[in-house]
Amino acid sequence: MAEIRMVDLKGQYDKIKNEVDQAIRKVLESTSFINGPEVKEFAGNLENYLGVKHVIPCGNGTDALQVSLMSLDLKPGDEVITPDFTFVATVETIALLGLTPRLVDVDPNHFTIDIEALENAINKNTKAIIPVHLFGQCANMEEILKIAAKYGLKVIEDTAQATGATYHFNSGESKKAGTIGDMGCTSFFPSKNLGAYGDGGAIFTNNDELAEKLRYIVNHGMKTRYYHDYIGVNSRLDTLQAAILNVKLKYLDEYNSARKIAAEQYDTILGNHENLITPAKVSWSDHIYHQYTLKTKGIDRNLLQKRMMESKVPAMIYYPVPIHRQKAYSRPEYSEADFEITNQLSESVISLPIHTELTDTQIQHITKTFIEVLNTL
Ligand SMILES: *Cc1c(COP(=O)(O)O)cnc(C)c1O
Repeated sequence: MAEIRMVDLKGQYDKIKNEVDQAIRKVLESTSFINGPEVKEFAGNLENYLGVKHVIPCGNGTDALQVSLMSLDLKPGDEVITPDFTFVATVETIALLGLTPRLVDVDPNHFTIDIEALENAINKNTKAIIPVHLFGQCANMEEILKIAAKYGLKVIEDTAQATGATYHFNSGESKKAGTIGDMGCTSFFPSKNLGAYGDGGAIFTNNDELAEKLRYIVNHGMKTRYYHDYIGVNSRLDTLQAAILNVKLKYLDEYNSARKIAAEQYDTILGNHENLITPAKVSWSDHIYHQYTLKTKGIDRNLLQKRMMESKVPAMIYYPVPIHRQKAYSRPEYSEADFEITNQLSESVISLPIHTELTDTQIQHITKTFIEVLNTL
């Protein structure tokens, strides 16, 4: 049996090696390393796949978040609401622009932003909300959009972990994650559901005006060459990465299905264990399992992880420290009582390997080891 990894990029590459190598070679021969035709082609293919008017490629997911915030012309002191239980990039970009991140707690079952906590955090300085579609499942966008409309707030979806997930509205309509709010931001970091072979990111929007502005901002705020109407950045998707992503986009649905199938097997085997709670499924979104994250109860989670690593089956903690407790982002006015769920989750969650190449044999081995280790604690 092959070594078990949290993600298996090599196994995935081997299956599409010919196509990828050919795409890379074509870029090498053309030497259009910056803004080559593949970049536009990929943006167009992704627009079609997502059913969104505009995809603006950029350097990485963190830049996507930063640039989307820059497009809103916010000023110091303006507040942006985002969940406490997330990867730091979401909060970092808000702070970097001199805006105030307003962290709120998450739901104990599906781990995305708590709707009541979100509404309670709104004040006269609040300008935007960044919900995070954590671990491959969408936040409750319908409720978030209602709140945003009520208070006149912009919504930027952080869909770095949910590229390809589908959101279902009460009306029966469905949309792809990241195409629901004013803007959606994703990452093509190699381990993401749609991963490049280096850094990459993109912003999605159906708003023509915003799209135009976003395109200027990622390119030095330049409307006409050497005329700078906006403060911008240099954030581009490499032609090589775009060529690779063009190949991989064709397999995205297949990749997401493979993750779902692996997750179902985990659910079946682990669902009845007294110390485990398998990932919740919500009515409004499918789950594409960027991570397969369980909650543990009644055991020492850190010891469990340590024993798993000793047994050569990786298990990771996403995320071990809530953002409000991070040195860079803690603030005297935060009260621990406001982050009860995030605090609990950071002490109790554990993620098992999930990727597109997991075999039945590996899943059997992972779950058998996991249960054996659990029963010795
Ligand atoms: C990966 C990730 C990002 C950042 O993406 P990069 O491409 O690594 O900059 C932002 N938000 C979330 C939730 C992520 O998982």
